[in-house]
Amino acid sequence: MKYGKRLYAFCGLILLSGIAGSVMVMGKPKTDNVSIVRDGEVLYELDLAKEEDRMIEIEYEGNRNIVEIKDHQIRVSDAGCPDKCCAKMGWLNSSVPIVCLPNHLVIRYSDRNDESTIDAEAY
Ligand SMILES: [Zn+2]
Repeated sequence: MKYGKRLYAFCGLILLSGIAGSVMVMGKPKTDNVSIVRDGEVLYELDLAKEEDRMIEIEYEGNRNIVEIKDHQIRVSDAGCPDKCCAKMGWLNSSVPIVCLPNHLVIRYSDRNDESTIDAEAY
């Protein structure tokens, strides 16, 4: 009985670490390369590992996005769009891109070793 319980706990642990592992793989891409893209056009290619803390101002038809790079992370710190969803998304920390629909702005991880798949994406 004891052995059975332990085995059960052991299997649970393996299962949990497996789930945690796949979440991590799904979560943050293994790259520090970030692209800032508008309508399929790459405005900035950034290597967050090498980037100094700075602000990038991107304007689109009178609306502005203030992109902040801090401690090798990137986010939209302020935006001139009505919903400010992009600013509310916080730091880019997964393969889910930061998107500003009104300003046609996408901030996402890019893998330079995998450019063919990026090109294949329909934008
Ligand atoms: Zn926005």
